[in-house]
Amino acid sequence: MSDPRWPVQTPREGTPPQIDTPQRPPNPGDTGNTNGENGGDGDRRRRPVLLGPFGARAFFVGRMFGVDIGIDKSWIIIFALVTYSLAESFGIEQEALPAAQQWAAEMRWAAALLTSFLFFASLLLHELGHSVTSNALGLPVKSITLFIFGGMARLSREPDRPRDEFLIAVAGPAVSFALFGIFLLLSEILPEQLALTSVLAPLCLRVSLMNLVLIIFNCIPGFPLDGGRIFRSFVCGVTGNYRLATRMATIGGIGFAALLASLGAVIVVTTPEAWINGVWLALIAWFLYRAARSSMSYVDLRDGMRTIPVGAVLDSEYERLSGAMSVAGFARTHPTVPGDSTYVVQTHDILSGFITVGDIKAVELVAREVTPLQAIARPIDSLVHIAPRTTLWDAMQKMEDSGVELLAVSEGKTLFGIVSRRGLFTGFQRLGQSATR
Ligand SMILES: [Zn+2]
Repeated sequence: MSDPRWPVQTPREGTPPQIDTPQRPPNPGDTGNTNGENGGDGDRRRRPVLLGPFGARAFFVGRMFGVDIGIDKSWIIIFALVTYSLAESFGIEQEALPAAQQWAAEMRWAAALLTSFLFFASLLLHELGHSVTSNALGLPVKSITLFIFGGMARLSREPDRPRDEFLIAVAGPAVSFALFGIFLLLSEILPEQLALTSVLAPLCLRVSLMNLVLIIFNCIPGFPLDGGRIFRSFVCGVTGNYRLATRMATIGGIGFAALLASLGAVIVVTTPEAWINGVWLALIAWFLYRAARSSMSYVDLRDGMRTIPVGAVLDSEYERLSGAMSVAGFARTHPTVPGDSTYVVQTHDILSGFITVGDIKAVELVAREVTPLQAIARPIDSLVHIAPRTTLWDAMQKMEDSGVELLAVSEGKTLFGIVSRRGLFTGFQRLGQSATR
């Protein structure tokens, strides 16, 4: 559905103000930061801000194959739980052995810690398998975060081609399969005679089995598991219908979540002493259910945003401020503004730049009366530009790829406005709901 006002060339009466081509080129060092909001790719030296799956900041631990690795606080719980249950199970396992061969408590805990560490390292390598393949296919992966339910690779966008989705999805289990084989082999070849290797051999066997469980679990054909993505790539490959394929994989995921939840309930009821396992399964079920639902709403959002051009949501009456106005004057006339608002600054009918609320706040209180807006305005050309016919979806992808929060909408020398990420979504909400019905 296109807005009849658009693409009328002049958003207002008379010729639209011309874009000022700034004399000084934007500083390449902070290109990524020109919009300053989120520290784009330009600055890889700084500790990246990684967000965990629950929205809290994850702890940055390093970079592998160009992918930032983070640990969410919730991961500590699962690490402690896995280590504890390993120590317990090693103890139970050894009860059958003569006392002389049984591991001392310290050794049991050390073995449990090492096994747990090797398991989560395997999980990280699994996620790296996905990420390296995705990067190789031109779909940048921003980061991997370990959290309470495992690992999560944050793709900048979903693969469009079934072939790509299949390759990315299968790469993780493939890495786990290799690890399963390596640890199984190690457990076979490590001699039992030596003190150290007599501990390492059963430990390697355990890690190999944990990788096998990881493969089986991840290959269940339901979103958001790898099996769900493999399933979608097949259905989409055969039918060419991405929505149908997504809906089927989502149903698979929700079905599996329901199964897991009922299994959890049965465990709690039938074996009260192992209630924690039942609760744990129910928690995983809840997480899978939520993730499966969000995969479907992601496709709804994408398909909806692909039907609307940015020009249709752009507020053609965007506010132009006089460059001569002081920062204090702006604050007086705009006492309450949304935090991500952007304003175009105009000097003698020429658009001399733009400012954000962040720029205003950055000016010292004492200097606000004497600082004209044109002094803090940033050049329009430092923004990434898109054409008004660009769809909301492509505009958002452009923001993702460039690591920016603002885009200039222009054609030739005509600026039709500046759009923010929030502006894209509110525009979609305003127009989009009707488009997808
Ligand atoms: Zn995976």
